Amino acid sequence: MSFNELGLSERVLKAVEGAGYTQPTPIQAQAIPHVMQRRDVLGIAQTGTGKTAAFTLPMLSLLESGRARARMPRTLILEPTRELAAQVEDSFTKYGVNHKLNVALLIGGVSFGDQDAKITRGVDVLIATPGRLLDHFERGKLLLTGIEILVIDEADRMLDMGFIPDIERICKLVPFTRQTLFFSATMPPEITRLTEQFLHNPIRVEVSRPASTANTITQKLVASGGKDYEKREVLRSLIKNAENLKNAIIFCNRKKEVGVLHRSLQKYGFDAVALHGDMDQHARLAALDSFRKGEMNLLVASDVAARGLDIPDVSHVFNYDTPHHAEDYVHRIGRTGRAGRQGASMTLVTSSDDKSLAAIEKLIGQKIEWMTPPPSEASAPERARDDGRGSEDRNSRRGSRRERPARDKRGAPTVAARVSATPPRPVRMAEEPERRRAPDNDPGDPRVVGLGDHVPSFLLRSVARRNA
Ligand code: AMP
Repeated sequence: MSFNELGLSERVLKAVEGAGYTQPTPIQAQAIPHVMQRRDVLGIAQTGTGKTAAFTLPMLSLLESGRARARMPRTLILEPTRELAAQVEDSFTKYGVNHKLNVALLIGGVSFGDQDAKITRGVDVLIATPGRLLDHFERGKLLLTGIEILVIDEADRMLDMGFIPDIERICKLVPFTRQTLFFSATMPPEITRLTEQFLHNPIRVEVSRPASTANTITQKLVASGGKDYEKREVLRSLIKNAENLKNAIIFCNRKKEVGVLHRSLQKYGFDAVALHGDMDQHARLAALDSFRKGEMNLLVASDVAARGLDIPDVSHVFNYDTPHHAEDYVHRIGRTGRAGRQGASMTLVTSSDDKSLAAIEKLIGQKIEWMTPPPSEASAPERARDDGRGSEDRNSRRGSRRERPARDKRGAPTVAARVSATPPRPVRMAEEPERRRAPDNDPGDPRVVGLGDHVPSFLLRSVARRNA
């Protein structure tokens, strides 16, 4: 199929040609004709599938008739993060080269004054994060009654970030007769409910199974000890030995870990930048920019900060932590192997990650290959004792593996074998125990010296607190 068959306007087709696209991607081929016919669309697609152009191109075509009025935007695109919003704005610039449309970005971290001025002038396309949009609305500077097209992008991310009440509110503020384009990589029940409530007889377009991983990605598991210094050492080794590593995103489960790992990598001379939710807008964009331009080749990131970012041509993804949520695994490794390119992902797995790993393999419907022998299956109390007692106990328990270090294809000891041969340090910093569901909401407490990162389970039991 060619772009000419989708019903797009001449001006848009010219811009598409200028962008160098020869063929629509499956989501574009399936969604664009319906968007052009003003139908609601439910698109189940991950980033990297070309979904941004799937709504941007027909929106540009439809916006050619009519014009914007002061304070009454004609279309509204909701994005979960500032980076994604900025990325969509870039798409409008790229695909809208032949249009004279006013595009405004309403995101946090930028002064209200400039944004107010743009809205007052009249906006064809308003791209916003939900919180900032509602702030503007409540200030009385913005009317949503002129919205003809509403786009809700990365809906499952909105859910993760707690934006669903805001989305529901916004859906009620825009006219009932608007056209709604709704995109989500996965369809958890809360998202299905939202689509049932706010989409009218939508066309459902699904370009890949919600939990599928691209077959251009070579996925591997790597065993690691559970201590942070052990994991960092395994990671450094992986980075140094990875074949054809051009650049990589390294994912951590917690934003505190992002900072610690970033500093550690820098200390070891790696060109690394960090991206997490606590950084201000300027620092986030600067980090992303230097990674995109290739000035820095490693990006250490948390899930929330990195989800959906379009960073083309990432050769490797390292999961420094096995993600607690299987969907996060799909999103993380989806950063590589994009647009038909080859990519590689390596996931560090410790002996306490078996449940998370099982959930991931169940979700993606396949077993992931081990690069090293799996970690030994120490029970939780043993691990806790291990932490307290230091290296001798651990070495004797893992003796058999140390005597016969695992070897790779070339006969060299594998990363895990090399790591297990490394003498542990006498004093270590401890991390706070994992929280169940807070990948990016960590308070970032200073680290404390103590038991190590595997806290004995009896210490984790809740106790009744007496009020003074
Ligand atoms: P997205 O899924 O919207 O994040 O897009 C992923 C990447 O695919 C972006 O870098 C787009 O520039 C690119 N892209 C979008 N549509 C096409 C197409 N039809 N042909 C080639 N590349 C495309």
